[in-house]
Amino acid sequence: MTADHTQLLIGGVWTAPSSQNRITVRSASTEEVIGSVPEASNADVDAAVAAARRAFDDPTGWATWDASRRADVLDRLAAEYEKRAEQMYAAISAQNGMPIAIARQLESFPPLLFRYYADLVRKQPVEDVRDGILASTVTVRRSPVGVVAAIVPWNVPQSLTATKLAPGLAAGCTFVVKPSPETVLDAYLLAEASIAAGVPEGVISIVPGGRDLGAYLVSHPGIDKVAFTGSTAGGRAVAQACAGLLRPVSLELGGKSAAIVLDDADLDLARVGQSLFGATLANNGQVCFLGTRVLAPRNRYDEVVDAFTALISNAPVGDSLDESTLIGPMASSTQRDRVHGYIERGAAEGARVVVGGAGRPDGLDHGWFVRPTLFADLDNHATVAREEIFGPVLSVIPYGSDAEAVAIANDSDYGLGGSVWSTDPERATSVANAVHTGTIGINGYLPDPQGPFGGVKASGIGKEFGPEGLAAYQQLKSVYRFD
Ligand code: NAD
Repeated sequence: MTADHTQLLIGGVWTAPSSQNRITVRSASTEEVIGSVPEASNADVDAAVAAARRAFDDPTGWATWDASRRADVLDRLAAEYEKRAEQMYAAISAQNGMPIAIARQLESFPPLLFRYYADLVRKQPVEDVRDGILASTVTVRRSPVGVVAAIVPWNVPQSLTATKLAPGLAAGCTFVVKPSPETVLDAYLLAEASIAAGVPEGVISIVPGGRDLGAYLVSHPGIDKVAFTGSTAGGRAVAQACAGLLRPVSLELGGKSAAIVLDDADLDLARVGQSLFGATLANNGQVCFLGTRVLAPRNRYDEVVDAFTALISNAPVGDSLDESTLIGPMASSTQRDRVHGYIERGAAEGARVVVGGAGRPDGLDHGWFVRPTLFADLDNHATVAREEIFGPVLSVIPYGSDAEAVAIANDSDYGLGGSVWSTDPERATSVANAVHTGTIGINGYLPDPQGPFGGVKASGIGKEFGPEGLAAYQQLKSVYRFD
């Protein structure tokens, strides 16, 4: 059965699209058509921005509501998402190849984030009054930033959308969301949830489309802020457009993080296998923060290679909707070809292929599968150690001392995630502190909503999650009193 939608959510209302163009979605595992949606046109974006603008500028509307009233809407949105959670996981898994068991973890963030920001904004005063140095008092007043263009990729579509919607809605912003063409069916479930939750008219629009539609939205005169998650190349183009317009923009981009295994690390897979897998291979390697450069001490190099060989060889590869699958297909044929190209390049540059290599996994004749691959005996200059592959491909790079491990970790254009594996908490902390990255885990990795998440260097600008994520959707005004 396919899911075929005929309307667009424009200004929170189901609306006939202005063009006949459609986006057809195929299963990443079977390549069969599983649904289709209208492709939004520039005219649909105009209508969505106009609705968001009207809702934001309404003198008694959403942006002016008491924060607790908006928080109640967010709580209802969380509940409506939960009602559709299994449908969401299945839709995402079928479209982008995320194993269903992993979707239950990585795509469970939305309700958590809607509630987290609802609580945060309920407790946050609209104003702080400070004693002045030159004035008698300074009142610092928070207000929402305005109409937000949220542009999201296909790899973890709903959690990445909620990362923007939750703090932005809590702050009082209105949204035009552009999902990736690869993952549009889940966006319709979000649209249904937002209507069921009673999100007021104008506050959320969803415009499915590709890069050109995204570029049109980013530069639209009615937009006040852009929140972008995607590739570093896409982020640069968005940043350039925003620079010309002096438009605030947050950029969550690519990564090539290091998983640093210290020489006292526990490598017993019965104890640490699941955490190691989550930090390096989750979602078929299609996650921005994964530690895809595994740094291994020379005196335990073979042991580390053996541990990752077992981790990869034991992970069932198959249809993403199969409960036992741990590694599914790539999200698209383009992505499959890209990852395949990197696997060939790694071998051509002289890295040893320990597991995997070019070609399809045995027995999988359909779907955009690659063979999960482990490279060894390479250094940090290899192309596969420098560029983001976005597939189940790891490189084990040797180092001598902790200081050398940190230097290799920092020798990267990127700085988004990473992890340190050690049985000595102090030593692990000191290595983690020395890595130039936006986030890092010790003996595991998963972003926690309490802490700001974001990259340094080519991994982006700005923070999501935590109170800092709310601040990104608020502007501050200082009122100086002299009486
Ligand atoms: P992509 O940059 O091709 O596309 C991302 C989104 O941006 C899509 O919706 C796309 O249509 C849109 N887009 C692309 N170019 C645009 C432009 N010039 N103007 C406006 N919109 C544009 O990325 P992708 O291949 O869909 O996603 C994978 C990338 O996303 C990886 O590099 C990954 O590391 C990154 N990512 C980063 C984070 C993070 O939090 N840092 C999280 C997930 C994914």
